[in-house]
Amino acid sequence: MATKRDYYEVLGVDKNATADEIKKAYRKLAKKYHPDANPNNKEEAEAKFKEVNEAYENLSDPQKRKMYDQFGANGPQGFGGQGGPFGQGGYYSYSSSGFDNFGDFGDLGDIFSSIFGGGFGGRTSSSSRRNGPSKGADLNVRMEITFEQAYSGIEKEIVITRDEECDVCHGTGAKPGTSPIKCPTCHGTGQVTQVQNTILGQMQTTRTCSACHGTGEIINEPCEKCRGKGTVRRQPKIKVKIPAGIDDNQTVVLRGEGEPGKKGGAKGDLYITVKVKRHSIFTRNGNNVLCEIPITITQATLGSELEIPMVDGSKEKYKIPEGTQTGTKFNIRNKGFKSINSNSSGDFIFTVTVQTPKRLTKEQRELLVQLAKTMNEQPPVKKRGLFG
Ligand SMILES: [Zn+2]
Ligand SMILES: [Zn+2]
Repeated sequence: MATKRDYYEVLGVDKNATADEIKKAYRKLAKKYHPDANPNNKEEAEAKFKEVNEAYENLSDPQKRKMYDQFGANGPQGFGGQGGPFGQGGYYSYSSSGFDNFGDFGDLGDIFSSIFGGGFGGRTSSSSRRNGPSKGADLNVRMEITFEQAYSGIEKEIVITRDEECDVCHGTGAKPGTSPIKCPTCHGTGQVTQVQNTILGQMQTTRTCSACHGTGEIINEPCEKCRGKGTVRRQPKIKVKIPAGIDDNQTVVLRGEGEPGKKGGAKGDLYITVKVKRHSIFTRNGNNVLCEIPITITQATLGSELEIPMVDGSKEKYKIPEGTQTGTKFNIRNKGFKSINSNSSGDFIFTVTVQTPKRLTKEQRELLVQLAKTMNEQPPVKKRGLFG
């Protein structure tokens, strides 16, 4: 689309110029660029002359000038009002992967109207948006759960705040016994169309009906409970099923639990972002559970059967061998978090740390001294690499 020069700029006047100033400026420029006055560069002068005339046509008529100030040269059907065709594509904004209910986008038409609803070419699309069904807003809430709850999954009730259909008027907004009437100004379309004659021919402009604010309906006697809104604010309890294996910051979606749609449009969705509390002994890495298990020097030296605490509260017996070094990792398979996407599970990985005793009984000390004597006091120096 070729961009037109600003009409005010063409005439060289201020945006607040009076009608008189515009007229004066026009006369001066029309004289200057009149093709008869420019025999040497007729073509350029003619183009300028036309431009000046068009600017004057629009700015000298108060109605047109007002339209121009509001919408620019292309009229209200111009592009660019709604922030571009992808302006409201909220569907891609969440950041998690693969729960059962993630794959299901429901009605495809719904997604497309939501992604492409604003912006593609002017009047028809914006009119159907204003007056037709539209999807309700999505709601976002956070939910805090414990490490153990993330491990085993949980069903929790939460209280949210949202609009719900008014039970007195059943969403119509009209007092019981009455009903909304079709707006007589716009005949229910929500828009008013005006036809104007311009030098470019007839120009049709459309604006939102001011009588009904674009709804196409007028409520003469509003419902007393919702004051004509058709909805009331409520705080329903919602049951949320959190799947076993969910990780911190992942999101569960409940379709249709958001704000109600308009004009029969679908309800919005409820997004629940899960916050998993830190645990005092367990941490998580992917689907693995990590844990540190302290052992004594004798357990490390002689080997031992340990009882390892699992996330679900049970204990697993695990034999560590003789001569276990501090920092050694052991793996209990499939005792980590369940994978949400598949049937597999992570592992439970524990690291042993050998605790040097700080206080000994007389007898223990004696025994250790005996032991030390048999070990020649100094541990043998390990041979190292190439230079050993
Ligand atoms: Zn009501
Ligand atoms: Zn109307």
